[in-house]
Amino acid sequence: MDYTQLVETLGKRPSKKLDNNTYARRMDNGHLAIKLHDTDILEFTPRGKIIARMGGWNTLTTRDRLNSYLPDHRIYTKSSLPYWTTGVPFTDGDWLTWWRKGKEYGWNLHAQRKDNKKDVALKKRIAAYAQKCADAVPLALPGPGDCFYCQMVVESPEKDKGKPLGDATHNCEHLLMHIEEGYVVPSLVAHALKEHGYGRTIWPAIIFGQTEMPNMIKSARREVKKSVQRYVAIRIATNGKGTAKPSTGYA
Ligand SMILES: [Zn+2]
Repeated sequence: MDYTQLVETLGKRPSKKLDNNTYARRMDNGHLAIKLHDTDILEFTPRGKIIARMGGWNTLTTRDRLNSYLPDHRIYTKSSLPYWTTGVPFTDGDWLTWWRKGKEYGWNLHAQRKDNKKDVALKKRIAAYAQKCADAVPLALPGPGDCFYCQMVVESPEKDKGKPLGDATHNCEHLLMHIEEGYVVPSLVAHALKEHGYGRTIWPAIIFGQTEMPNMIKSARREVKKSVQRYVAIRIATNGKGTAKPSTGYA
């Protein structure tokens, strides 16, 4: 989709439904947008710039809509983080510009972040930390002796109810410290397992030593590695604002 096509789609209307919860609309600044729920996921300027956003919702639906309406470029997800298919991380506000040379034309991608060496080094440290958590299984039960930001679950405000204090206060410094110190926090592991849908499975009982199943310990460690790696990576990448799965809303 581009600006001209969107003008044709809209005609004289201020907005038009394109798909479930998805609308083409005119913005106050004279640009056109494709809106999914409350987010203008794509903004088109008359001069051929397209700005892309997820508004914090890296979900299957958001990526599907972006990929349906973006010309040329695509977005995928790896370890819960969004990337452009060129391999660079996706950031809200990344944009495309239109170019033309004779009869050929296309879209250039302007990503705000590069997957630089620092990112790679940090990813390795996160993976090593997750491995350390896995190797420590069976773990002690989560308890009041754990890191306060990992262990304490907030009651209010309503939107943060049930979240660990670290998430509610957008604090990811404690996670960086746990990595630095190699401190395996049972509460962190418990939250990570829950976030990845293992809360009501047999895994927590095995991982926290409530059930002895020696033949499953290897698989249990693999689940810990995977869950902790994703849990920590997404929080560090988003400065404590992101979670792998939104607790409410659409998928
Ligand atoms: Zn912590």
